Order: sequence, then structure tokens, then C-alpha cells
Amino acid sequence: MAVATNLGFPRIGAKRELKKATEAYWKNQISETELIIAGKAIRKENWLLQKNAGIDHIPVGDFSFYDHVLDMSALLGCVPERYEWDGTAITAETYFAMARGSKNAPAMEMTKWFNTNYHYIVPEFESVDKLKISSSKIFDEIQEAQSLGIAPRPVILGPLSYIGLGKIKASALTKKDILTALKPLYAEIIARFKTMGVEWVQIDEPLLVTDICDETRQAYRETYGWLRAQSDIKILLATYFEDLGPNIDLALNLDVDGLHIDTKRGPKQVDYIIEHLPKGRTLSLGLVDGRNIWRSDLQDAIDVAKKALASTGSSRLMIAPSCSMIHSPVDLDQEDKLDSEIKNWLAFAKQKINEIALITSALNEGEDSIATELADNQKAIAERKVSPRIHNPNVKQRTQKVNSEMAQRTSSFATREQIQADIYKLPAFPTTTIGSFPQTSDIRAARAAYKKGDLSRERYVEAMKKEIEGVVRYQEAADIDVLVHGEAERNDMVEYFGEHLEGFAFTRFGWVQSYGSRYVKPPIIFGDVSRPKAMTVEWSRYAQSLTARPMKGMLTGPVTIMFWSFIRDDQPLSDTCRQIALAIRDEVCDLETAGVTIIQIDEPAIREGLPIHKDDWAAYLKWAVECFKLSSCGVEDSTQIHTHMCYSEFNDIIESIAALDADVISIETSRSQMELLDAFADYAYPNQIGPGVYDIHSPRIPSEEDMTTLLQKASDVLKAEQIWVNPDCGLKTRGWEEVKPALDNMVKSAKHMRLAYKKSQAA
Ligand code: GLN
Ligand code: ZN
Repeated sequence: MAVATNLGFPRIGAKRELKKATEAYWKNQISETELIIAGKAIRKENWLLQKNAGIDHIPVGDFSFYDHVLDMSALLGCVPERYEWDGTAITAETYFAMARGSKNAPAMEMTKWFNTNYHYIVPEFESVDKLKISSSKIFDEIQEAQSLGIAPRPVILGPLSYIGLGKIKASALTKKDILTALKPLYAEIIARFKTMGVEWVQIDEPLLVTDICDETRQAYRETYGWLRAQSDIKILLATYFEDLGPNIDLALNLDVDGLHIDTKRGPKQVDYIIEHLPKGRTLSLGLVDGRNIWRSDLQDAIDVAKKALASTGSSRLMIAPSCSMIHSPVDLDQEDKLDSEIKNWLAFAKQKINEIALITSALNEGEDSIATELADNQKAIAERKVSPRIHNPNVKQRTQKVNSEMAQRTSSFATREQIQADIYKLPAFPTTTIGSFPQTSDIRAARAAYKKGDLSRERYVEAMKKEIEGVVRYQEAADIDVLVHGEAERNDMVEYFGEHLEGFAFTRFGWVQSYGSRYVKPPIIFGDVSRPKAMTVEWSRYAQSLTARPMKGMLTGPVTIMFWSFIRDDQPLSDTCRQIALAIRDEVCDLETAGVTIIQIDEPAIREGLPIHKDDWAAYLKWAVECFKLSSCGVEDSTQIHTHMCYSEFNDIIESIAALDADVISIETSRSQMELLDAFADYAYPNQIGPGVYDIHSPRIPSEEDMTTLLQKASDVLKAEQIWVNPDCGLKTRGWEEVKPALDNMVKSAKHMRLAYKKSQAA
């Protein structure tokens, strides 16, 4: 019999129970015990849902209070010195200090999980001396599942991916040392699973789909060969997000019992894998896309599975999602306001679980056993393909007429810089922020009331204008040089634009975790995109009218709007992106006409679109850069285009970032202690740049000296004339009581740098 399996279920709860519980715990509103109970309730619901749907292998260990990579660090006792951990079982206090920082120690670095918008806490390797099993979480959860009648399949991150995703912080330490220290711990973990009655363990090794070196390949062979000898538990090695590429034979021949592959992001590998699967090996086929919201084509999936059956036999075939479903929202059934035509094209995690069960039934009991469901599915798939809701001939025509001139500023940066300096007359080390100011409960209440119809448009606009005025006055008093309006009217930087564009649909509960307790509700791009009317101009014009200082217009860029949405899967990404770019271009030009001539176009997602295989990078970067330029290059030389990027590694795409030709970029660096700046040692970044000096993802308030240290580091590799002073990212998630002192310190630090600069000029 083929087996219905899952790789991971969303941990946030259908009603965002996890967010509510963790945030209440952080505010001391609930106790640690209450937090633990809330976690238990979510797990129970998820497990029973999967069990009742007919899933045979139910993951355990996919739940996390913050992040599953951080859970791995807790399990392995990989805790940086600065948290003063005493070596006993890791407490919630230590765990959350690592994630979010504490009074005495900044948080650990956070970065994007492969090419997704999920962020993980980067493991830090300072020494191997204290590594040991230090958390009982996963073992407790196995027991908990068993007591509910669930046969658990524990999931852990494999040693090579864990090490590969981490950073070594001690010069004497090598990856090899770490692996040597970790191997026995992994052996201990799986041995404990075995004694608990576990049949299969899922070991995630997504690193296998990346470009790894020969040494790592060898380490894979040795590690898994060795692990196999330590326990007779069945190991399912899970790969996802891409095809295995050059590692395909390596993966096929590792000494494990089963191999999971992603057939959605890696369709090219499927035939080869089926043909070359070693005898006796179980194949887990990721047939249901864990990263999108579209209904699967069940017939397609069944056909692929049948091909596999011919080589695996039914006893060695698992039906699975392509990857963990943490990237998909929880339950479509809750969406009572969604247009029924569009809703019929969709599936969230709960529905995807059903799809897995249906495909498995079709294999085991014949397609007739699911005849009704299959017919219904095929009808929906066919209807979506031809729906007139999707195709807009005007948009298609306009995108075809795009030419390279449209994606080029009139003059070079050197010329623009001079013109802009004369107009804006900004001091050296000019200060600005990234756009949003704290989203207070008043703001959220007003927006909610307006959405519900309890607050009229007029009163809502009035309330937002008051907010804007408050933010403008504050910034003037704080002596910030380039102001922002604060984005009070925006729920979210992508949703806001989606709501004003055609071709987007919205859910009420379609949340996915971005990091920790921060979730996003991506819009769904289902059709051709166009802009019926201006989206931000009135707010920005109003904000500019309040002050003599320059006001930045604030937009989200085309690449980010696309990647932070659920993307249609019926045309190339570049086509979708170009459509959005044209809509943003119109907005940029309208802002300029309205007298808002400093315009920031945020592109924090530019890197996460990067294909996993390096061979595919150039093609992606070419169209992504072109789309940004298409959106930003319709303006005069005197208009200053800013962009913003955050929370990923930018060093290896720095030349493409420069190719965006934004006049100014603000970029995250403070959490990684200005590691970004290494890139500038070899590469002279041409335009102006604000390396973030305030880590807004931590409640910690940086001192003036902290920020000056960072700015001095920046001055070592950048010219003083290039440097802007700004936080890492928007301030919407922080409270005013943190933001005010932090920005005060930031302005002081900028003034200090300015003074030193003037002195050096005079000397
Ligand atoms: N302008 C946005 C803000 O300030 C940028 C947010 C982001 O980069 N994620 O909130
Ligand atoms: Zn940001």
C-alpha cells in the first residue's frame, strides 16, 4: 500500500493561536505553563486533523514556539556564550532571548529560509565543548502524540543542513569539528526515538538541493553511512525547494531507507529518480505543492505517482506535500468572504492534506474510489484555465510594448547626484527612516472599524491624517532630515498595494509565519495586474504639505509585491512581475507630478527570488533588475529614487543591487554587525547607501555609541559622502517608547559623525 504522509503542518493555529499565546507570554500576561498548554492544544488539533483525514505518517517536531532551526539549536545545546546559559535544560527565557535578544545580549542573526519568506535563527558555532542534548521538547511531543493515539514521525533538521545554515564564530573551529561533535548527538537522538517506538524519522536535508562542494558531498556519505550503523530506525531523507541537480546521484545512493523529493519545484528530476532509485529504497513523492494556495491537479499527481509505482512497488511509495506546509495558510474553509469562483481554485494546508489522502486512495483502491472528488477537481482545474477573470488584453499589450529605454534613467548617477545635492541640500550623514512608524492600537482600531463599515471614509481619513501629522511633527522635533509619513494607512506593505490593484484576491485568515510571532497574509495574484487609479499620492501629498523638509513617498517594488504574494502558476514569473512594474511606474510618475520627489521603492524580497542553483541566477537577476528599473526610471534626474532591502545576504548579489541604479539604498546590516560591508572592501558601491544602524527586530535600544561604532565601520569602506543614517527596517512592529530613544540616539550619532567629518574636511 502507498502511504499518505506529511512533512510538516502550519504551527500557527487556524486562528493564530500561537501568536496570541507567545505575545501574551512575552508581555507577562500569561505564565510559561499557560504558554505550554496553548502549544499543546495547537498540536493536538493539527495531529487529529491529519489523522482523521487519513494521513498515515504524521510529523512531530514541526511545531515550534519560534522557529524550528532555533529548536534544533536548543536540542543540540548550541547556545552562544552571551546568553550565559548554565548548561541545564534550556528554559523559555534562554530560548526567547536567543530569538529576540535580552537586556544583556542582542538576538541571534535571522535570515531567510532558502528562497522562502520564512526566517530562521542562524545557528552560531563558538565552540563544540558544550554541545549536548539540552531540550526534551521533541521527545515530549512524541509522547504527547502517542498518548493521543498518533503514531509520530519525528522531523529534525539534518546535521549537514544545520551546520551549513549556521555561522562559525571562532577562527579555530571548522565545519568538520562541528560535524564530529554533532554526529554522536544525532545518533543519540534517533536512538531515543527508536526506544520510544518510532518507526520512521524524517531528517530534512534541504542543503542537498543547493550547490555544495565535494567535501560536503563526502561528509554526506560518511555521516549517513555512520548514522545508519548506529540505529535500525528508518530514515527518510527529505529534500525540497529545488531539484537535486548535480547531487542527484549522491542523494540516491546515501545509506538511508527513504528519499523525499519535491516534484513541484524540481519536476526535472522525477523521471531520473524513478528510474535510478536503488532497490529496496522508499520514495516519498512531493506531489502537492506545500508553498502555494492552488488546488492540485489530482489527475496529474496520480499519473506521476503511478509511474513511480512501477519502480517502487506500492509498499515503498509515500505520497507527500512537496515540502513542509508551513508556507501555506491553514484552512480555506474559514474564508467566508472569498469570491466563490476563485475560492474553488484554491487549497490551503487542510485541503492539501485531503488531496494527499485522495491521491493515496486512488493508488491503493483505484481511481474509481475517488471518482466524485476527482471529477470535481478536474472541473475546477479546467474552469480556471479559461476564466475571463484572469486575462486582460490591455495589460498583455502594454507589457509587450516595454522597451529598454523605459528601464534607464536619463542621466548617469554622477549627474543626478549633483542635481539632487543642489535641490535637497542635505547635510553629510543625512538621517531618515525606512517608512513605517509604530502601528499603535488606535491605528489598528480605526482601520478595523473602517473595514467593518463602523467608521466612515471621511472619519477614517481624518484619523489617519492626524496620525500622519503627529509623525511629521515628531520627526521634525527629532531633527530627522528626510521624513516619512509613517504608513499608518497600511495594514501591510504588499497587501495595501494589492488592494489597490486589479488581479489580486484577499483572504481573511490566510496567514503564514514570516518570523517568530510575525505572520503575513499574502494576497493572491490570480490574474493580469493593472492599476485603476493612484494608490498613495493623496497621503504623500498631504504629508508633504505639512512640512518644509523633504517627504519620502513610499512604495513597494514589483519584485517584492510578487514574491510576498501567492503567485499565479499559469505564466512565467517574469511576465507577472513586469505587469506589476508598470503599475508601480505609473504611481512613481504620479507622485513626482504631485511634488513628492524623493520616492522609496522597497525591494526587500529581491534576494529571496534568487533561484537555488547558481546557474539560474543570472537569468533571474536580469529580469528582476529590469522590473525594478521599469518601475523607477520614468522620472526626472532631480527625483531621488531610494530603495530598501533587509534580512538576507546581499554580498553575493551586490553588483545587481548596484545595477538597480537607485540613488540611495537603505540596507539591513546591524544584526550581522555590518558583515555586509565586507562586500565593499572589494567592490566600490557606486551610489549612496544607508547601512542600517538600529536592529528593529529586537526590543533592545541601541546607544549612540553602538550606532557610531557601526557608522565608523561603514566609513572604513565607504566614502563619507555616500553614507546615510537609518534603521534596518520599518518601525511598525516596535512601540513608541522604544523608537523615540533609539531614533534620538541615531540622530545624535549622525551629528557626531557629521561633526567629525566637517573637522576632517577643515583639516
Ligand atoms: N517601508 C516598509 C516599512 O517601513 C518597509 C518594510 C520592509 O522592508 N519589510 O515598514
Ligand atoms: Zn526592511
